[in-house]
Amino acid sequence: MNIKTLQTLLIDGDGVLWEADDPMPGLVNFFDVLERSGIAWALLTNNATRTTEAYVEKLRSFGVTARLDQIFTSGNVTAHYLRDLTPPAQSIYVIGQPDLKTTLQQAGFTLFDGEEEPEPVDAVVAGIDRAFTYAKLRVAMRLIRNGAVYIATNPDTTFPTPQGLVPGAGSVIAAVTAAAGREPVWMGKPEPTMYQVAMKHFGADLSTTAILGDRMETDILGGQRLGMGTILVLSGITSREDLAASDIRPDYIFEGIAALADELEKVRA
Ligand SMILES: [Mg+2]
Repeated sequence: MNIKTLQTLLIDGDGVLWEADDPMPGLVNFFDVLERSGIAWALLTNNATRTTEAYVEKLRSFGVTARLDQIFTSGNVTAHYLRDLTPPAQSIYVIGQPDLKTTLQQAGFTLFDGEEEPEPVDAVVAGIDRAFTYAKLRVAMRLIRNGAVYIATNPDTTFPTPQGLVPGAGSVIAAVTAAAGREPVWMGKPEPTMYQVAMKHFGADLSTTAILGDRMETDILGGQRLGMGTILVLSGITSREDLAASDIRPDYIFEGIAALADELEKVRA
């Protein structure tokens, strides 16, 4: 992949476009450059605890206009994945936060949650659930052992908060996996589903598509496995030292999106 001929850019959020609630420097100009260069873009985030509407709103608050169909979370990617199964899944038992349930409900699935075991369902979806209990674990285990498709949102075992590290989706999923005795199908990066769902939506071609991210072991690794271009920015989790110590070699490395925008303007002028 050469950024001269780039047509579709898949973009990670945290550490690339924003840091918590603050936009990265040059954010609005970066999207103006993409627009002028005719590069289609989509946001790909492993976070399943917020709806696509919430990300459109977040970008709007930074002065960037996005459409709902440009947002891919491990929540709405789950919906795409389950709809594309043969036959399509219709009923789901969900271990997750309210926004994940809203996303799946709006996509038209019949949803079950809570501590009572429903009739057999087509799929069990597991992610972070701050009200996770032994009873929910038991229900999920039984449904998966009864043949339900088992979907996991994202593998992050912990994540930082102002109060310190807390258990993430990966910790809940580890419990379900142990009880069910079966590995899930993962929706989040670096697994291929999210990239593939986004590319299919845009009719994108691998040779003119790239992932832009700040995490080597998710964003960049997943893109490389699929054979698309990879662009690392050093504005997030990866430092120059991490980069030097890693076996993973991104195609392009920039300090941040402002530097990438400058380079795009130069090569595509
Ligand atoms: Mg990131």
